[in-house]
Amino acid sequence: ALPSVPVPPPGPRSRELAAELARWESPNVTYLADDFPVFWDEARGSNVRDVDGNVFLDLTSAFAVTGIGHGHPRVVSAIQTQAGRLLHGMGDVHPPAIKVDLLRALAEVAPGGLNRSILANSGAEAVEAALKTAVMATGKPRVLAFHGSYHGLTYRALSVSGREDFRAPFQAQLGSGTVFVPYPYAYRSPFDGDADAIGEQTLRYIRHVLDTPGTAHEGIGAILVEPIQARGGDIVPPDAFLPGLRQICDERGLLLILDEVYTGFGRTGKWFACEHWGVVPDLMLVGKGLTGGFPFAACTGTDAVMQAWPKSGGEAIHTSTFLGHPVGCAAALAAISVLRDEGLVERSAAVGERMRARLAEIGADHPHIGEVRGRGMMIGVEMVRDRTSRAPAPELSGRLMVEGLRRGLLLLGGGIHGNVLSLSPPFVMTDAQVDHALGAIEEILAGMR
Ligand code: PMP
Repeated sequence: ALPSVPVPPPGPRSRELAAELARWESPNVTYLADDFPVFWDEARGSNVRDVDGNVFLDLTSAFAVTGIGHGHPRVVSAIQTQAGRLLHGMGDVHPPAIKVDLLRALAEVAPGGLNRSILANSGAEAVEAALKTAVMATGKPRVLAFHGSYHGLTYRALSVSGREDFRAPFQAQLGSGTVFVPYPYAYRSPFDGDADAIGEQTLRYIRHVLDTPGTAHEGIGAILVEPIQARGGDIVPPDAFLPGLRQICDERGLLLILDEVYTGFGRTGKWFACEHWGVVPDLMLVGKGLTGGFPFAACTGTDAVMQAWPKSGGEAIHTSTFLGHPVGCAAALAAISVLRDEGLVERSAAVGERMRARLAEIGADHPHIGEVRGRGMMIGVEMVRDRTSRAPAPELSGRLMVEGLRRGLLLLGGGIHGNVLSLSPPFVMTDAQVDHALGAIEEILAGMR
């Protein structure tokens, strides 16, 4: 554990740094909670210490990255060793040898048939690679994607993200390459009935969009979907949904692209969320938890789809300077071994189940908790003004974050309305830390009744 010298956050050093940052960075920055700067200095396992000496218990895994814990010694050591040996390769021209080890390891952990990867430096870049691959493989430029989705903020990734808040200033450049349909978000759906009925109606609507001639559907070659919608609010689709999408794609010769950037590598209690439903996509995107903290991502696909890329005679038509970075490969290989050797995927399933059950108990009669949902250690608590109107209450999730910070917890908000408490703790969190966090959250929630 990190020694702590508690100063009530936000401490003076964090305040100073915030003022400095405001001078040097684009003003488009956000803190976890408004006017509550906390600058991180050091982190281990589930703990983060700020520059003022406050130690926090991290229930965010820094955007679902550090499932294996902050600064896992095996990852740190793999990074140090690789950096000392070969800090930079030459992309695809003189590739670092370790890249082959990583590509093989990815094929081993990925669902059956996904055995060729294009590496990338961020989730958004992996999305770009997948969308280009889909054009290569189908000859069709357009994509069906979902309202509320988040696939990254580079232009094409943004163009398939169903978030008007991020899209609005760039609308003119986003083009018409995406057709959006509702995600089966049963708590807030335009369709009626229970979750299963909403799932069925969503699938029917998608078939209608795809099969009606002369509508916007023409030129769609792929469906891109998060198996559990992450930043959209930790939304678990009904059981028939992903298998239904697989069937829709198979019947029409479309590719199914699953964005597992957030959900992959144990976050939902399986290696990949698609395993909850036995669905294998044509292309799968991973990032975040792949390394547990180093910028790295991948687009993994079947031979059939990946072989659509031409064998390049001259320069590769899809690459980048740092692609397949040797240090990223080393970090990912270490993180994959840690997940396997420490049984962390199973731990995510078990601890996540316990946390969700406890939160559901607290939520059962809480006037401002609309729904508790999730899989594994990916949990959403939807805060509402009242349970009848279901009106979103972002002010309450905001309060949770501030009061969390005051009690030494790092919490993150999410959801398209900003009213979801989005928990994604490290899988290595001890039982005592989990109990402490749940107790603190329960106290904060009790003050909101
Ligand atoms: N896809 C999903 C599902 C994500 O949650 C994110 C990031 N939150 C991304 C893609 C983009 O990844 P990155 O921020 O590394 O570009």
